[in-house]
Amino acid sequence: MQQNKQKKAKKVKKSVFCGTGSIYQFFGVLCFPISLVFPPMIILAVILFVVGCNKSVKYQCDNCNGEVSKNIKICPWCKSFFE
Ligand SMILES: [Zn+2]
Repeated sequence: MQQNKQKKAKKVKKSVFCGTGSIYQFFGVLCFPISLVFPPMIILAVILFVVGCNKSVKYQCDNCNGEVSKNIKICPWCKSFFE
Protein backbone atom coordinates (compact mmCIF):
# COMPACT_ATOMS: atom_id res chain seq x y z
CA MET A 1 0.00 0.00 0.00
CA GLN A 2 1.35 3.35 -1.02
CA GLN A 3 0.73 6.52 0.86
CA ASN A 4 1.44 9.59 -1.16
CA LYS A 5 -0.88 11.81 0.72
CA GLN A 6 0.75 13.58 3.61
CA LYS A 7 -1.32 13.88 6.68
CA LYS A 8 -1.55 17.33 8.04
CA ALA A 9 -2.16 18.35 11.57
CA LYS A 10 -2.01 21.42 13.68
CA LYS A 11 0.09 22.04 16.69
CA VAL A 12 -2.12 23.07 19.54
CA LYS A 13 -0.58 25.20 22.20
CA LYS A 14 -1.49 24.10 25.64
CA SER A 15 -0.66 25.67 28.96
CA VAL A 16 -0.17 23.27 31.78
CA PHE A 17 -0.38 24.52 35.31
CA CYS A 18 1.41 21.67 36.91
CA GLY A 19 4.91 20.29 36.92
CA THR A 20 8.19 22.16 36.90
CA GLY A 21 6.85 25.28 35.18
CA SER A 22 4.49 26.13 38.00
CA ILE A 23 7.29 25.79 40.55
CA TYR A 24 9.28 28.47 38.73
CA GLN A 25 6.18 30.65 38.48
CA PHE A 26 5.45 30.13 42.15
CA PHE A 27 8.91 31.35 43.15
CA GLY A 28 8.61 34.16 40.62
CA VAL A 29 5.41 35.32 42.28
CA LEU A 30 7.08 35.03 45.69
CA CYS A 31 9.87 37.33 44.51
CA PHE A 32 7.49 40.16 43.57
CA PRO A 33 6.71 41.36 47.14
CA ILE A 34 10.41 41.10 47.99
CA SER A 35 11.18 43.36 45.03
CA LEU A 36 9.19 46.16 46.71
CA VAL A 37 11.84 46.40 49.40
CA PHE A 38 14.72 45.12 47.30
CA PRO A 39 14.21 46.32 43.68
CA PRO A 40 16.90 44.16 41.98
CA MET A 41 14.78 41.18 42.98
CA ILE A 42 12.32 42.10 40.22
CA ILE A 43 14.84 40.81 37.66
CA LEU A 44 14.93 37.40 39.31
CA ALA A 45 11.15 37.43 39.61
CA VAL A 46 10.72 38.13 35.88
CA ILE A 47 13.31 35.51 34.91
CA LEU A 48 11.63 32.87 37.07
CA PHE A 49 8.25 33.79 35.69
CA VAL A 50 9.33 33.68 32.05
CA VAL A 51 11.19 30.39 32.52
CA GLY A 52 8.12 29.01 34.27
CA CYS A 53 5.87 30.08 31.41
CA ASN A 54 8.14 28.46 28.85
CA LYS A 55 8.23 25.23 30.78
CA SER A 56 4.51 25.12 31.31
CA VAL A 57 3.62 25.54 27.63
CA LYS A 58 3.21 22.28 25.84
CA TYR A 59 2.26 21.52 22.28
CA GLN A 60 -0.15 18.87 21.27
CA CYS A 61 -0.85 17.29 17.91
CA ASP A 62 -4.53 17.82 17.12
CA ASN A 63 -4.63 14.67 15.07
CA CYS A 64 -3.54 12.16 17.69
CA ASN A 65 -3.39 14.36 20.82
CA GLY A 66 0.19 13.26 21.36
CA GLU A 67 2.57 15.60 23.07
CA VAL A 68 5.01 17.19 20.65
CA SER A 69 7.91 19.55 21.09
CA LYS A 70 7.89 23.13 19.90
CA ASN A 71 10.33 22.94 17.01
CA ILE A 72 9.47 19.74 15.24
CA LYS A 73 7.70 19.62 11.89
CA ILE A 74 6.45 16.07 11.97
CA CYS A 75 4.45 14.44 14.72
CA PRO A 76 6.51 11.58 16.18
CA TRP A 77 3.34 9.67 17.04
CA CYS A 78 1.15 9.79 13.95
CA LYS A 79 3.64 11.17 11.36
CA SER A 80 1.42 14.12 10.52
CA PHE A 81 3.02 17.21 9.08
CA PHE A 82 2.51 20.42 10.94
CA GLU A 83 1.62 23.43 8.86
ZN1 LIG B 1 0.07 13.29 15.91
